[in-house]
Amino acid sequence: MSENVTIQALGEIFQQHQTFALMSHVRPDGDAIGSVLGLGLALEAMGKTVHYWNEDGLPDNLAFLPQSDKIKRPPAEPIAIDVAIALDTATKVRLGESNLHAASLAPLWVNIDHHISNPRYGDMNFVDATSPATGQIVYEIIQELGLSLPVGSRDAIYVAVSTDTGSFQYESTTANTYRMAADLVDRGLLVGEINAKTYDNHPYRRIELMRELLNTLELKADGKIAHWEMLDATREQLALQPEDSEGLIDMIRAIQGVQVAVFFEELPGGKIRVSMRSKDRSLNVCDVASFFGGGGHALAAGIRMSGPLADAKQKVLDSLQQALDTTNS
Ligand code: 5GP
Ligand code: MN
Repeated sequence: MSENVTIQALGEIFQQHQTFALMSHVRPDGDAIGSVLGLGLALEAMGKTVHYWNEDGLPDNLAFLPQSDKIKRPPAEPIAIDVAIALDTATKVRLGESNLHAASLAPLWVNIDHHISNPRYGDMNFVDATSPATGQIVYEIIQELGLSLPVGSRDAIYVAVSTDTGSFQYESTTANTYRMAADLVDRGLLVGEINAKTYDNHPYRRIELMRELLNTLELKADGKIAHWEMLDATREQLALQPEDSEGLIDMIRAIQGVQVAVFFEELPGGKIRVSMRSKDRSLNVCDVASFFGGGGHALAAGIRMSGPLADAKQKVLDSLQQALDTTNS
């Protein structure tokens, strides 16, 4: 496993090269989009040429971020770039096929991430699993290199970290996270406005989805496991976008006595997406996810696995039950 490069070494790469493609994982969340915009706008401020690519494009719920219209789907054919930078992406394949094809001419790959399961697939890796969000790593890189922090980077980094820490609530949140937030506020960030745009602006269909999910909610293992599920038909009925379900799992994680929450989602084509949240490090959902080929963090992890839904549910719930038995024995 290759060691982390230094931030200074990253700075040299930024200095020496001109054209960068910044990418993050499929079904992007706030940290994926925010860390790409945060670093990209800082590189542009250095006079660099930056491509901002995401396999699925920009989700509507993040379109309020300044200059987020720079985020595009990757071009159909590879283009010449000096450096490809993957951000917030636990495995290279999670960038998506089109991204990998578009960036296939890149002579140098940089991997900047905070997933403990990251296998360090870059030519240069900067993986800090103690950081609550890739956005915080981007902030630290910008600060340590003394780069200028444009307003767009400021807002993008705040949203990246806020969304990945459950609004600065999860235990991954550190004193440095709050110091960073304080600095962003000192730089003019409007906390009330940006939080309202991030959290108080949901499309109605998301609330309808919540109603559907609540109708499938079940508890298992003496109330230690809570799970709910979404059928593919629901996606069509409610005209759902991938981001509509983001964060809903926190509602069932919050049930008293629940140690682990699980969301099963039927994807178009028959695969099952599994999303897991644990309340306690002794039940490491990344380990459970890794067993099925997924990954993530100790307290938040995910899997793409084959269906049908009933089989995936049984396998994952059995595995969680075993993990609980080991933890509680
Ligand atoms: P979420 O449940 O919000 O989709 O993801 C939780 C965490 O697990 C995120 O950090 C995400 O990157 C990671 N994760 C989700 N799905 C997968 C997956 O299919 N494979 C891997 N390796 N990581 C995943
Ligand atoms: Mn992240």
